[in-house]
Amino acid sequence: MRDIAIIGAGMAGLACATRLKEQGRSVTVFDKGRGPGGRMATRRAQVAGDTVSFDHGVQYFTVRDTGFANAVAGWQHADVVAPWPAAGDDAMVGIPSMNAPIRRMAAAVDVHWATRIEAIERSEHGWRVIFEDGSGRDGGASDFRQVIIAVPAEQAMPMLSAIELPVAANWSARARASTSSPCWAVMATFSHTLPLADTFRGTEITWAARNSAKPGREAGEHWVIHGSSAWSAHHLELDPEQAGEALLERFCAETDVAETRPLHLAAHRWRFAKAQTAGRSKQAGFLWDAPSGFGVCGDWLASPRVEGAWVSGNGLARAVAS
Ligand SMILES: Cc1cc2nc3c(=O)[nH]c(=O)nc-3n(C[C@H](O)[C@H](O)[C@H](O)COP(=O)(O)OP(=O)(O)OC[C@H]3O[C@@H](n4cnc5c(N)ncnc54)[C@H](O)[C@@H]3O)c2cc1C
Repeated sequence: MRDIAIIGAGMAGLACATRLKEQGRSVTVFDKGRGPGGRMATRRAQVAGDTVSFDHGVQYFTVRDTGFANAVAGWQHADVVAPWPAAGDDAMVGIPSMNAPIRRMAAAVDVHWATRIEAIERSEHGWRVIFEDGSGRDGGASDFRQVIIAVPAEQAMPMLSAIELPVAANWSARARASTSSPCWAVMATFSHTLPLADTFRGTEITWAARNSAKPGREAGEHWVIHGSSAWSAHHLELDPEQAGEALLERFCAETDVAETRPLHLAAHRWRFAKAQTAGRSKQAGFLWDAPSGFGVCGDWLASPRVEGAWVSGNGLARAVAS
């Protein structure tokens, strides 16, 4: 039987994995994504023969918690994060792309990418992880002493509701009560410099940023544009091409930039972008059942930001140790 499994390699899951490893645990992490990021993802595109990266999820993060401040200081020392004053006096970004701290943490633990976990089940002495293709039910390499779920509430809920354990029913209800709002994100490259500051906050465009103005990015006029929760919910089922055109039109209208054909235009739909607070665990910021060796962490249990995800994952690892 293996030691401990974590499902989800976003900031929460990897903060938890990092701390558990420091505590001498043998950690195995599974993530359905093809590479490091979660909601701190970076999308690469070919634009006029060059590879360009866009931070299409998290734009920047702030630091209040002392433990998180220490982790960020370590990343800054390793040149994977840097301040970006254009977004605020205390705004930090990954360098050369937003997923840099995630990539760094993932490199130090055993992460299985492109591995979607369908369910977790109780086994004779611990937990069994069931993979998307149904494998794992025969035990062996998928049996763990302890297991941690580190995914958004909407994705945790079906896993929690299938577990036959009283505490899981309670946690599943909390996950159900925590709904996230969506966000359409547009990635656009323009042939000329737009007459705008590096960041813009509007109404239906809640945020737009000149991605190429962040430290360590490729030169050019590369923008990331986010639709508001209301706009994104209203246009949720558009295909990416339509959503990209519609959001670009709103951007031009709100910024008074003359309508212009971008050299590159792509859109990404984040169905679960911003966690609502209904599922928050105000006392702890995570869930842990020591008798069964089963826990849950994620921003939705702490605060809906990068820092909240780190605090949740790190706090859960401390609880596991005690
Ligand atoms: C558009 C957008 C803008 C944002 N802007 C900001 C910002 O400016 N500042 C800020 O602080 N925060 C921002 N946030 C919020 C921030 O991204 C999150 O609070 C934080 O990254 C959440 O981390 P997490 O580890 O809890 O979840 P995630 O990053 O979502 O990680 C969960 C991981 O679990 C994996 N997963 C899910 N289900 C399964 C499964 N069944 N099997 C295996 N793996 C699975 C996913 O692939 C993912 O990698 C933004 C988010 C979005 C989407």
